Amino acid sequence: MAAPLPTIFLSHGSPMLALDAGETGKFWQKLGRELPRPEAVLAVSAHWTTDEPTVSSTVANSTIHDFYGFPAPLYQISYPAPGAPDLARRVTELLGAAKIPIQTDAARGLDHGAWVPLKNMYPLANVKVAQLSVQPHRDAAWHVALGRALAPLTRENVLILATGGAVHNLREMAPDGSPVPTWASNFDLWLAETLAKGDESSFVNWTSQAPDARRAQPTPEHFLPIFVAYGAAGEKPKAERLHQGFTLGSMSMAAYRFSGGL
Ligand code: ZN
Repeated sequence: MAAPLPTIFLSHGSPMLALDAGETGKFWQKLGRELPRPEAVLAVSAHWTTDEPTVSSTVANSTIHDFYGFPAPLYQISYPAPGAPDLARRVTELLGAAKIPIQTDAARGLDHGAWVPLKNMYPLANVKVAQLSVQPHRDAAWHVALGRALAPLTRENVLILATGGAVHNLREMAPDGSPVPTWASNFDLWLAETLAKGDESSFVNWTSQAPDARRAQPTPEHFLPIFVAYGAAGEKPKAERLHQGFTLGSMSMAAYRFSGGL
């Protein structure tokens, strides 16, 4: 049997990365080339928040331009990846078995948290994609459990791609090239060290354990996807930081790969 696929957490950054993703784009392109080619992707995006977990079951994904006040060319980009209704059914089955509520949405397309990185990873838009929402009123442990229930997918050639932001505070954005503020680098480093140590207790209790947690993640939705990726890699997975760096002053672009859990 083939080895399970790793799970991935990416910081997707600003929608502008769809036009010029720079170093991060090169990393995403390399990641797409180096990962075993999946049968389908389950994208867990910060930009789809619902009260209960919801999976998209469309046959053909529309491209959602869920951002405002950006240059016109950004709104013309389309990423017509096929949908993955079979994967949506499997997600429904797995979460149902774990007694986690799950709804389906047959109309939902891909938001920019999903399509901006995917456009770099799979530029031909020829890998099927379904999306799964996050629940910002629920905590990290909930999202680890959500991921854990989906762990069998890693052995079914499904890539679980969680996308959010390792440090994400839109009010603190600064011009590109600005120095990285200490609160942002502290949180980013804490995350890297906590995952490297396998300190799950600190990780899931990040709101009290991480330095400057509230400033780094004033609302939790951009951080919650990482817990789904972590949970989906099994018990006590190994974490590897694949990419690091900051844009717009404090916005971390860190990416992690989780694998080898029990
Ligand atoms: Zn975002």
